[in-house]
Amino acid sequence: MFESAKAPVVPDNEENKALCRKYCPICQNYKKHDLHRNEPKELFCARGSSSAQNMKEIGCFCPACELFTKHHLRGGYYCVRR
Ligand code: SF4
Ligand code: SF4
Repeated sequence: MFESAKAPVVPDNEENKALCRKYCPICQNYKKHDLHRNEPKELFCARGSSSAQNMKEIGCFCPACELFTKHHLRGGYYCVRR
């Protein structure tokens, strides 16, 4: 089967985690909501949203990320709503 065009798939691997660490941990949203205390801690675009509750959406850096461009992602805030 082909992957759905509506659901870009970002591989959950160490290389991509390393890329994510250039963006997520330093964004305002991550720091404000202490996302390192919840699972998953990174690579939300591949692994799904954080288990943290009642998050606001403040200052997502995803649009600057290489994976955002490479996988034609849209929207950002994957820690909140993916
Ligand atoms: S698009 Fe966002 S969640 Fe995905 S790897 Fe990049 S910074 Fe992390
Ligand atoms: S997905 Fe966006 S808002 Fe969430 S931690 Fe990563 S850069 Fe920040």
